[in-house]
Amino acid sequence: MKRERDIRTDLKGMTIPELEAFLAPRGKERYRARQLYRWVYRKFVNDFGMMTDLSVGFRSLLSSSCRISAPSAERIEVSADGTEKSLFRLEDGEAVESVLIPEEDRRTLCVSSQVGCALGCGFCATGAMGFRRDMTSAEIIHQACFAAKRLADRGDRLSNVVFMGMGEPLRNVQEVSRAIEILLSQDGFGLSGKRVTVSTAGIVPEMLAMAVNYPVSFAVSLNASRDAQRSLLMPINRKYPLRELVAAMRRIPLQSGRKVTAEYVLLSGVNDSPEDAAALSRLLRGARVKVNLIPFNAYEGSSFTAPPTDSVNRFRDVLLAAGIQTITRGRRGVDIRAACGQLSCGFGGKRG
Ligand code: SAH
Ligand code: SF4
Repeated sequence: MKRERDIRTDLKGMTIPELEAFLAPRGKERYRARQLYRWVYRKFVNDFGMMTDLSVGFRSLLSSSCRISAPSAERIEVSADGTEKSLFRLEDGEAVESVLIPEEDRRTLCVSSQVGCALGCGFCATGAMGFRRDMTSAEIIHQACFAAKRLADRGDRLSNVVFMGMGEPLRNVQEVSRAIEILLSQDGFGLSGKRVTVSTAGIVPEMLAMAVNYPVSFAVSLNASRDAQRSLLMPINRKYPLRELVAAMRRIPLQSGRKVTAEYVLLSGVNDSPEDAAALSRLLRGARVKVNLIPFNAYEGSSFTAPPTDSVNRFRDVLLAAGIQTITRGRRGVDIRAACGQLSCGFGGKRG
């Protein structure tokens, strides 16, 4: 069935300056942009008719020429550990997923930034589905609106956002940056940069540019300690090899006490030996980094396996002995295929 396209201007996903510029020729004061922001990103209201501090005339003007998009959450799965995975159906029929992870002291949302991914890392379900398209800032930020609304309905709040869902955020910098502005905006989500993390496979120039432009946190998916090994697992390494990538990680400006995260997916018999751990600790020596070890999460069609707990602990201990802060990431939401690298929306097939 063909859907009718809504040609009204979508106000969702606009930055404050963009919204101000949109309203100015319509004779609206600048503060109206912040007013709209608070409705959309603080109260999660998508219906202009309900925005009671706007005049009736303004509301009807907005209703006739604008809209606030809200892709439908077609499926929500709740894991035994409380993790929730939502599948959104986008207007062109594509699908993406986001994962809300409740922890003791925080509520973290893992968002997608692209439908699929072009980087083709050999251990990743999103990589296996290939690249379909970039997400818009409206689609990206909607994931946060949806999760924050669900939390607000329970008297809770979204505290952290990580760009660790489907896609490579630094291959969609423009739309991701607009979403970040909304996350950081005082009238938007009001999150501090410390609580917004961009995870990247290591697109060096974009990472450094983003670090200059936004005070967000960074996680870099290293996953190997030698170029030959990393190029096999992550083809992007041929363009930005380890030495260049780690040099860039060392150059990211950091506020005191903060660190760049190095993510390392442990693949049994591939990159999990104590020698690999020693090589990794040499690579990271002296850098302000913390390591997140992620035992491989299996998905259909994958040929890797996770190492046994003993090997994971041994790997961690080598890093700890070298003075590197290291944690093993818990396997949240594995029962609903919501863990790192498992997102693919059943290969994102379009609905008939
Ligand atoms: N494209 C970005 C963000 C999405 S991937 C990036 O690569 O960083 C988020 C994290 O999941 C990355 O650290 C990636 O290495 C990890 N990951 C991918 N597939 C995985 C799998 N099957 N098991 C465990 N972690 C995986
Ligand atoms: Fe893309 Fe990240 Fe998956 Fe690699 S690990 S294929 S960069 S989403």
